[in-house]
Amino acid sequence: MPFQLTEEEEMFRKSLRSFLEEKVAPRAAEIDRNDEFPGDLYRAMSEIGIQAVFFPEEYGGSGGDLLACCLTTEEISRVSGSMAVLTGPPLSLASAAFRLAGTHEQKLKYLPKLASGEWIYAIAITEPDAGSDVSAIRTTAELKGDHYVLNGTKRFHTMGDQADVTTVYVKTDMSKGVKGISTFVIEGETPGRIIAKKEEMMGIKGIASCEIVFEDCRIPRENLLGKEGEGFKDVMRTLDESRPIVAAMGVGLAQGALDCAVSYAKERVQFGKPICEFQGIQFMLADMATQIEASRYLVYRAASIALNRNRESMMLASMAKYFSSDIAMKVTTDAVQVLGGYGYSTEYPVERMMRDAKCFQIFEGTNQIQRVVVARSLLG
Ligand SMILES: Cc1cc2nc3c(=O)[nH]c(=O)nc-3n(C[C@H](O)[C@H](O)[C@H](O)COP(=O)(O)OP(=O)(O)OC[C@H]3O[C@@H](n4cnc5c(N)ncnc54)[C@H](O)[C@@H]3O)c2cc1C
Repeated sequence: MPFQLTEEEEMFRKSLRSFLEEKVAPRAAEIDRNDEFPGDLYRAMSEIGIQAVFFPEEYGGSGGDLLACCLTTEEISRVSGSMAVLTGPPLSLASAAFRLAGTHEQKLKYLPKLASGEWIYAIAITEPDAGSDVSAIRTTAELKGDHYVLNGTKRFHTMGDQADVTTVYVKTDMSKGVKGISTFVIEGETPGRIIAKKEEMMGIKGIASCEIVFEDCRIPRENLLGKEGEGFKDVMRTLDESRPIVAAMGVGLAQGALDCAVSYAKERVQFGKPICEFQGIQFMLADMATQIEASRYLVYRAASIALNRNRESMMLASMAKYFSSDIAMKVTTDAVQVLGGYGYSTEYPVERMMRDAKCFQIFEGTNQIQRVVVARSLLG
């Protein structure tokens, strides 16, 4: 079990951290305040190969394993939840979706451009009446000649306004439940793919969540990803790979909040001494640090066995996702408390971190659904 990172992994973390501290951390508050897509930062991250970590070498990536992907996401999230949501989960989802179901031609066409950061990826599963219950999706694709014609509505489509490549999950046969779900690849400005609105969200600013409507949207037949009717199975396998990475975002965000709370507690003087000398504050910091370490090792363990694709690996991925995001919510809330009124103000980053943490408990399968997965694994 990897309780100790190798020297190489530690060096990778260190050089990534110094880049992120220099380029991303100073922009995090501005991204949150202006709520505008930070395209220049995404490009700067591409230039040093951050996106490539998530992709295999034969398709233009640097072939990082899942642990390297988690370390990358954790470090980004430590300084900016928004930039972590822009990189970690979408890239791991893209990589897995094409690797698991794509033809060689599809992998060659899409993966190198995603790995280089030239193209941005998004995923569209959720609909107005289908969130946790993916089987309830009602967007349809009907084969007409050489094209499939898509109709329906998708909600909370992260980066829907910027995406060059989207995998969209729709019903090709309404009578077959989850066995009627298929996956399609949609490229940027396809006619009939309409951005109906950008949702107003609590956090993860700068990264728009969009409502997308498909109105007689014609997709070439070759854009079917995987086999007709296998979309549900494929997306579940894809999400199994990406869950440790979502979990790593929780670890990073919580670490960022703890770092801020520790440095504030050493500086802030009340009753004639720094507040870090009060046991009440010390115990909060100790609990925060302990919870983060527990969460980190669960995430690394889940990442190290995720590709085994068995009951244990699925259970650990779900455990890591809900545990680390619940800890991120708790630690960021406690960090606000350590900073008192300043924690609640936008002068310090911890209130942003607290708003960002909430999202991690909800997307890519709510924490209730993760508990359902764990309970099912336990009960057989
Ligand atoms: C910031 C953000 C970004 C997102 N990005 C994307 C994206 O890019 N693509 C995409 O497709 N989706 C995206 N989503 C959607 C997200 O995946 C869904 O919001 C999530 O799956 C929950 O679905 P829902 O919101 O419809 O809630 P519902 O499924 O309606 O759930 C409501 C509540 O009921 C609980 N619940 C539901 N079923 C059960 C059950 N069986 N047992 C116990 N409790 C249950 C849930 O846990 C939740 O607390 C995003 C969401 C957010 C907030």
